[in-house]
Amino acid sequence: MSTTMETPMPQSDAALPERPPGPDTAIELSGVVKDYQSRRGEGFRAVQNLDLTIGAGEFFSLLGPSGCGKTTTLRMIAGFEEATEGRVLLYGQDVTTTPPNKRDVNMVFQSYALFPHMDIFSNVAFGLRRHKVPKEEIRARVQEALEMVEMGDLGKRRPTQLSGGQQQRVALARALVNRPRALLLDEPLGALDLKLRQTMQIELKRIQREVGITFVYVTHDQGEALTMSDRVAVMNRGRIEQLGTPEEIYERPATKFTAGFIGTSNILAGQVDRLDGDHAVLDYGDSGRVLVPRRLPVATGDRIELTVRPEKISLVDEPLPRGCALRGSVKEVVYLGTSTNYTVATAAGSDVVVFQQNSATFRGHLGRGDDVWLSWEPDHSYLLTDSGAGPRAAALEDSTTAG
Ligand code: ATP
Repeated sequence: MSTTMETPMPQSDAALPERPPGPDTAIELSGVVKDYQSRRGEGFRAVQNLDLTIGAGEFFSLLGPSGCGKTTTLRMIAGFEEATEGRVLLYGQDVTTTPPNKRDVNMVFQSYALFPHMDIFSNVAFGLRRHKVPKEEIRARVQEALEMVEMGDLGKRRPTQLSGGQQQRVALARALVNRPRALLLDEPLGALDLKLRQTMQIELKRIQREVGITFVYVTHDQGEALTMSDRVAVMNRGRIEQLGTPEEIYERPATKFTAGFIGTSNILAGQVDRLDGDHAVLDYGDSGRVLVPRRLPVATGDRIELTVRPEKISLVDEPLPRGCALRGSVKEVVYLGTSTNYTVATAAGSDVVVFQQNSATFRGHLGRGDDVWLSWEPDHSYLLTDSGAGPRAAALEDSTTAG
């Protein structure tokens, strides 16, 4: 689509959650709900009461499993779907009911949707010609856009004469040439093989940095979201489960869903045996103890779940006097070259995965059935809330980051 607005829009001064209001706000969703109606007339809520603020110039990703409502959210920003409830604002202007071609955004899809009968130059020039932009300006802007995606020499080719990656670059140039204030990308790299996808991820980030416009990127690929984004919203069943920088999402997953969806995580469950200062303690007697910072109100006797990432755990011969220690027995060993993954049956009742770097100094290679101790810093234990806890999880996040 080609949807450049004719007039620049005023800057936002509306007060909305997550980020302070101000001129750096690009996109705001406030209380947005989307209900679909099935053919039999049954209602289905695809997006539930979404509040979201995306900053100008931000690379923002909506990440989640199939059917969680990412594309519906993006389509409401683009104007292809109308919100059932709530408001959508672009640069402070309420566009909730504004048609797509009157919004200052462009969309890039997984299917490149190039015109096969036109050469690359004409594909990119299409929107500008429709807007009756002068010929010389079209020539300069198309060339600039093609060079931005490193396709400057291929303007005369037809789409069928290009690889998938090259076609996606053209689709990107066609979206950028209109100079939209925001680019909405719906799994744009989904059709490419892994290696090309990884190259294009770095390319996309470079292009976004160079053009400086807001990118909203939909993906179900957590690696992709972590690689490129300034911030990520993890979505689950139509809600934002957690919102933060890639590091926050990875290092401090607030819910069991996020912990399970992003990377590999170990989840331990148990009843709190005692409190020790800022920590809750699960005590396994001679087989060790697990400490977790009390970022939520926790009392002795409460059942809790916590997560610890595999790379934070060390394999040692003896339990250390301080910190977390768990006795275990090696169940599986997977050698991966730079690292080895161990699955260890533990005294906590669940298996724990440990990533061990095969560094020059690491001597303790283990085999199945070997006894071992797991050791980690209490700060790498992270208390979880239930999946779908939504506002509570967000409020908890706020209170931990504020404090
Ligand atoms: P995917 O990664 O598979 O594209 P998604 O997270 O983008 O998934 P959406 O496409 O937003 O998910 O769909 C969210 C939910 O709404 C799904 O259950 C989907 O089946 C449903 N849905 C989407 N579009 C429609 C529609 N036009 N009519 C009815 N239901 C729809």
